[in-house]
Amino acid sequence: MALAFDEFGRPFIILKEQQQKTRLRGLDAQKSNISAGKAVARILRSSLGPKGMDKMLQSPDGDVTITNDGATILEQMDVDNQIAKLMVELSRSQDYEIGDGTTGVVVMAGSLLEQAEALLDRGIHPIRIAEGYEMASRIAVEQVEKIAHKFEFGEANVEPLIQTCMTTLSSKIVNRCKRSLAEIAVKAVMAVADLERKDVNLDLIKVEGKVGGKLEYTELIYGIVVDKDMSHPQMPKKIEDARIAILTCPFEPPKPKTKHKVDIDTVEKFEALRKQEQQYFDEMVQKCKGSVLQDVGATLVICQWGFDDEANHLLMHRNLPAVRWVGGVELELIAIATGGRIVPRFQELTPDKLGRAGLVREKSFGTTKDRMLYIEHCANSKAVTIFIRGGSKMMIEETKRSIHDALCVARNLIRNNSIVYGGGSAEIACSLAVEAAADRYPGVEQYAIRAFADALDAIPMALAENSGLQPIETLSAVKAQQVKENNPCCGIDCNDVGTNDMREQNVFETLIGKQQQILLATQVVKMILKIDDVITSSDY
Ligand code: ADP
Repeated sequence: MALAFDEFGRPFIILKEQQQKTRLRGLDAQKSNISAGKAVARILRSSLGPKGMDKMLQSPDGDVTITNDGATILEQMDVDNQIAKLMVELSRSQDYEIGDGTTGVVVMAGSLLEQAEALLDRGIHPIRIAEGYEMASRIAVEQVEKIAHKFEFGEANVEPLIQTCMTTLSSKIVNRCKRSLAEIAVKAVMAVADLERKDVNLDLIKVEGKVGGKLEYTELIYGIVVDKDMSHPQMPKKIEDARIAILTCPFEPPKPKTKHKVDIDTVEKFEALRKQEQQYFDEMVQKCKGSVLQDVGATLVICQWGFDDEANHLLMHRNLPAVRWVGGVELELIAIATGGRIVPRFQELTPDKLGRAGLVREKSFGTTKDRMLYIEHCANSKAVTIFIRGGSKMMIEETKRSIHDALCVARNLIRNNSIVYGGGSAEIACSLAVEAAADRYPGVEQYAIRAFADALDAIPMALAENSGLQPIETLSAVKAQQVKENNPCCGIDCNDVGTNDMREQNVFETLIGKQQQILLATQVVKMILKIDDVITSSDY
């Protein structure tokens, strides 16, 4: 494809003959894009809500993932279509920014596209629809702000945070243990939170998992858990008051970077070399443990690299326990937790660079030989580990994703403590407000604004449908109730609790999450509507 200009300077596109077949223009382009977007949303629709279904995805190399998380489903679906990729991107943006609501945002965008299709059929220009959607989204965002509530919580009262995390977890596979997992997530976030600055660094929360045991055995450790063991089986399994040297240099003789050759032609030379090597190891161990000249005094070495058998043996002999092959990220976390410094050269080891931990222990699990290293009672407890147990690798992976969502929700609430009620109640309230506002607009946009209101109804409808209720009947009853009682907390009673009031059911969502959903979905749909030419090279 090439862009050229005619003699009047007007641009035109030159397409090679075989490529012409794959060009779509005008309404055809919009229709085809809309149907691609809708197809993606349709896949996620059945996963929405506490009674939503799970998806099983198999990767080309045979790995199976079972999940309910919208972002993960789309990420692993490996879609080809460009518009479908935009929907994947949409879910990812929600995940990056908010961490939760990834299914809802795609379902909302799908429903906006569906409504737009009907408007296009009625002859309304796509730009008018896009403008109408933009106005409606602003009304909806204002409305959620109006119906939002603030709640107070402090270190002593974290119950509201737990309740909100439970709402997130209730739609996941792990909902059996939602109370305990929500408590763990909130405790972890509170441990690393800076309540004054209203910020939470989630990087300080390590999520580790091990197959075996029950989900109920998942625990929060105020310290770091590393999937490693001591480098020698005879090294101590428990070290109290550990002084830890955190090293990024290998325990081996230095290797020149240029090519080198050592000629050994006599036994003496060999012996000398061996001796020199041993001396070298000896010096390294000495540097960590400390000598008469310099008192470093490390009682544990954590090393990013591996070490020679000879070094390992020597370390054991000199009573200096060591752990090898610890990843860079883990090393950083250990340094933060223990208040130590990462040391790149043995020469730089000094006592003040050592990390401190009250207890370092190795723990074995079940009948396997697998062991993990627990570093606890650290000098600076601002790094914690959530250690997940579960029956299978798939379960652990899904629990990790669910915990991630819960952590994000707790973090968002610490940043901004406004909430709206869930179960589709916020969407119904917005739909009513947008519908009422539509009459105020004299132009063609009012059709688009009304369509936006209808599209918002898709979320409660999907929730009702997925819970085995009659979608239209349930939605109209709830909508009527909201208007009659002037209560924006009425939503879909998915779990058959017996009340529609989401306040009584304690189903909360964050305000910023809901607003982000509306804004992101509108943005993507507007972008799709504005495409009127799809030119695909025939190579694809
Ligand atoms: P997402 O990935 O978008 O968070 P979920 O599958 O987690 O999607 O579903 C979230 C939706 O389910 C939200 O609209 C939320 O309000 C609703 N929801 C969660 N728990 C309940 C509940 N107990 N009763 C009714 N609705 C609920």
